[in-house]
Amino acid sequence: MNILLVEDEVKIAVFIRRALVEQHYSVHVVHNGHDALIQAEIHPYNLIILDIMLPQKDGFTLCEELRNNRVTTPILILTVRNSLHDKVRGLNLGADDYLTKPFEIEELLARTRALLRRDKTDKSTVLKVADLSLNQVTQEVTRAGKSIKLTSREYTLLRYLMLHANEVVTRTMITDHVWGEDSAAFTNVIDVYINYIRNKVDKDFDIPLIHTVRLIGYTLKEPGVV
Ligand code: CA
Repeated sequence: MNILLVEDEVKIAVFIRRALVEQHYSVHVVHNGHDALIQAEIHPYNLIILDIMLPQKDGFTLCEELRNNRVTTPILILTVRNSLHDKVRGLNLGADDYLTKPFEIEELLARTRALLRRDKTDKSTVLKVADLSLNQVTQEVTRAGKSIKLTSREYTLLRYLMLHANEVVTRTMITDHVWGEDSAAFTNVIDVYINYIRNKVDKDFDIPLIHTVRLIGYTLKEPGVV
């Protein structure tokens, strides 16, 4: 089980991380909202524990952007902001649970277990576009029941296109969300990777799903969608 912990106060982050690791969870810590958005879109976390007052992008904004980008990972807000107004706001923006600081670590662990149990039965772990399906937990990809083997970068790119199915995805969006801060992904690198996944996803099938949008980028769409 992979957890993304978004917390800018290093002492608190270390404390929570240690408690979660003791329970054998794998924990990735980021300290600002910008990094959190990128990581949450690239990796299929099982849970995001989210502080509200963060540098660069606050937790409420982040929560809203993740849901708008169809990231369905459960979100547990953990914050000193304890007003009813803030709680309602967080839950309305798509958070699944809300715990205020100071908190007992036992309660955080119990809520974490509850949210992870819920996630296991969540059908949205499987993305589907026409006969193409991608399991975000096992990372298995199939088309018409036939298994497709992808490298990790190809998988991340295909997953991103599927999350934005029937929308135009620009090269800038791909650079930001698939390559992240790794390196400058030049346009031709993106084109090369699109060709790789086309060869695996479309080549052996009558109906192509991945389409080039001239001068802008790409779209992965259901046949018949204009
Ligand atoms: Ca904070």
